[in-house]
Amino acid sequence: MILRPFYILAPFLFFSMFSCTSKEKAEIRPDENRNVWSLYAVEFARSKDVSVDRLVKGARADHRVDMSWYFWVARGFGKTILIDTGTDAFIHNSATQLRHKWNIHTARSVRASLNILGIQPDEVSDVFITHHHWDHSDGLVHFERANIHIAEVELNSLKKKASKDMLEFIERASLRGALLTSLQNKKAEIPQITVERAGQHTKGHRIVKLRCGGKNMIVAGDAAYLYQNLSARLPITQSKSSSGNVHDLGKMLDWVGSDGEVLPGHDPDVFSRHETVGHGVVKICGPNAGAQ
Ligand SMILES: [Zn+2]
Repeated sequence: MILRPFYILAPFLFFSMFSCTSKEKAEIRPDENRNVWSLYAVEFARSKDVSVDRLVKGARADHRVDMSWYFWVARGFGKTILIDTGTDAFIHNSATQLRHKWNIHTARSVRASLNILGIQPDEVSDVFITHHHWDHSDGLVHFERANIHIAEVELNSLKKKASKDMLEFIERASLRGALLTSLQNKKAEIPQITVERAGQHTKGHRIVKLRCGGKNMIVAGDAAYLYQNLSARLPITQSKSSSGNVHDLGKMLDWVGSDGEVLPGHDPDVFSRHETVGHGVVKICGPNAGAQ
């Protein structure tokens, strides 16, 4: 493989993703007040030429794919919900090593990514964290007004490696009673969305199930990295138990059935399979997309 000169290109690419015109913004305002969900995948970074065996156990090492870094937005029932938060780690000046490790080709901040959907962080009512890993939870610090749904064991793991900013954020969230660790929360009950422990990626890894566009959908976090994990029933490379992971892949596929979808955490094909509604944003399902 020829190494791409992305060190030279990176500053331009990173900058270019901030300077989006209004045309690149999605028009989703009407969705939030309807009593149905619309679900979006928001890509905050893209890696090039990642060896598949870093993601799929048993895959061929010489097969390389692009890899997406996502968070997910659900709007409806008067709420704006995030599933995972993304991270600003790739855009820090000091992130050269990290960008190199993952061959990051494009990246943008959590705020800039959300802005494509016209969403300000303070409008977010709830954040579901699938697990504590940095690429899924770092961005929490932007959401001072949201309820934070996270498993106790994942919260503890997050605290162990947390920055000062994150620890202070968690303290503030705790003081305002916004840290919700149980699977069912009377305080913040949300229609047609349920959370379940599954995936075996980390101790308390959760998936988010929702009814959207008349279909059963699952945001799988890192229970699956790629569609290939699901279609070939091959486990992710990092799990507590490979057989447990494969078992949960099957359970998820059963639940969504033939017309629903399990959305893997890092597959760029999420973009080719769904309607682009803004720069780096696709609409997965909703009242105006696909079958009702
Ligand atoms: Zn991940």
